[in-house]
Amino acid sequence: GANFERVAAKFPLRDALIEAASVPGGDARRWSYEKLNDDVDHLARALLALGVVKGERIGIWSPNCAEWTILQYATAKTGAVLVNVNPAYRSHELEFVVKQNAMRTLVVAPSDKNSDYVGMARQALANCPELREVVFLPGDPTVGLTAGVPESSPELTYGELLTHADGVGPSALRDRMAELDRYDPINLQYTSGTTGFPKGATLTHHNILNNGHQIGRLLGYTEHDRVVLPVPFYHCFGMVIGNLNALSFGAATIIPGRGFSPAATLEAVQDFGGTSLYGVPTMFIAELALPDFASYDLSTLRTGVMAGSLCPIEVMRRVIDEMNMRDVAICYGMTETSPVSTMTRAGDTLEQRTTTVGRTMPLLESKIVDPGTDEVLERGGIGELCTRGYAVMQGYWGQPDKTAEAIDAEGWMHTGDLARMDGDGYVVIEGRIKDLVIRGGENIYPREIEEFLYQHPAIQDVQVIGVPDAKYGEELMACIILKPGVEPLDLAGLQEFCRGRLAHYKIPRYLDVRESFPMTVSGKVRKVDMRQEAVARLG
Ligand code: ATP
Ligand code: MG
Repeated sequence: GANFERVAAKFPLRDALIEAASVPGGDARRWSYEKLNDDVDHLARALLALGVVKGERIGIWSPNCAEWTILQYATAKTGAVLVNVNPAYRSHELEFVVKQNAMRTLVVAPSDKNSDYVGMARQALANCPELREVVFLPGDPTVGLTAGVPESSPELTYGELLTHADGVGPSALRDRMAELDRYDPINLQYTSGTTGFPKGATLTHHNILNNGHQIGRLLGYTEHDRVVLPVPFYHCFGMVIGNLNALSFGAATIIPGRGFSPAATLEAVQDFGGTSLYGVPTMFIAELALPDFASYDLSTLRTGVMAGSLCPIEVMRRVIDEMNMRDVAICYGMTETSPVSTMTRAGDTLEQRTTTVGRTMPLLESKIVDPGTDEVLERGGIGELCTRGYAVMQGYWGQPDKTAEAIDAEGWMHTGDLARMDGDGYVVIEGRIKDLVIRGGENIYPREIEEFLYQHPAIQDVQVIGVPDAKYGEELMACIILKPGVEPLDLAGLQEFCRGRLAHYKIPRYLDVRESFPMTVSGKVRKVDMRQEAVARLG
């Protein structure tokens, strides 16, 4: 909260936040730092009027929108713990999260054609006694929210909530801010749920502000940067790597739209002069695949962040050459480490930026251990990556057992990722321990095969998984998405492409040609679902 005020006072008239119009021809919504700070204070005072106390959980269940950002900073000023609720959740999961952290207030997106947010929130209000009120964000007034909410109702529109601020003066907010400590929890962020049910990481002001600042510093941000964020705010990629590192330097953040649309993203870069663009690899793949890709003016772009999962080298080259993102950084990390723990730097070679996730961030430590014995490996050996330092979360909310499994007595966070480190400290991620395929006693890293298959001219995107096999323990399956309009590819053709170029045991035994991959909201492929489907199909 106080950090936000310092930046707002330094750059009052610069753009802080722009939300692109949701309908063609509509107007974008814009906030200068001064206006944003005023709106944040207004909302923070309204929250105090509701009786929000320090440490209380306030949930936000919405795709990206300006109010998301305003709430993020308003909760920081009141000392409430913001709980990011996955916008893809349905009523059962919503109620689970509300109960798990005894949420008092839930701020809810307007319903849209995919999600009846309003209806499901009302149901949660009826089923979860700890929930005191729901606040409905503005949207299309004809969808969902009926007019005339009764006086004593625990339902409020965002506008009604703001009127409560009248009863609370600025000095009450000052007093509250004076009570806050940097080591207070401020945010409960859920992991992506790539490997199972999402876990809630408890993070402090100190955790996420410092991480956001360090990332922005290494990207060379100034108040002249304009950061385009198609990544969900629900996830640390949007709210920390996105909002907080831009905020830390007085840069502007630009919201291209509620959900991810490759066209809307490139339009936002073009219309608002984006200098930096963020995304997971699948987003960049979709942007590069747009039929009219070449018609967008991306000349203002300079940098950006690619993170979240392994990026095919070929895609990285195109992002640098064709999207003009010459200083693009690769970041690696996890929700539990606020999130970024390794990152490439401006001076790194193309080779380093296409094959590694850079070096350990300032003020953090990394080590690579044998997953069986926890012994530190020689440089170059593949083992589990562990992270230590200021960015490591306090723990999983309400799950001390899970916390103790993840963070050891010396403070090392065990990432569950396999990696190796070269002599200069550059880290190469080999994939998740859970995704490693062991075929006939031979360790196979799916990434290696994915990189290889990516060179096939008909393949747009590829994931390699292990499926159970009676003889070898596991066999390889290649799951591919074909480029539009190419000759279909069959298993024999795929194997022929591999023969003589890959060791026989690395040649996929099965092929699954798909339209899409099952994805998390943060844009990661859920291999766990593909494995289950494959098992069901193969019998
Ligand atoms: P869950 O823990 O619920 O299964 P998740 O691990 O995907 O989901 P996140 O915290 O969003 O949840 O993601 C962290 C993970 O993402 C890392 O552990 C790593 O496997 C992967 N990852 C992040 N950045 C990169 C990167 N640059 N390259 C490769 N993998 C990455
Ligand atoms: Mg994880």
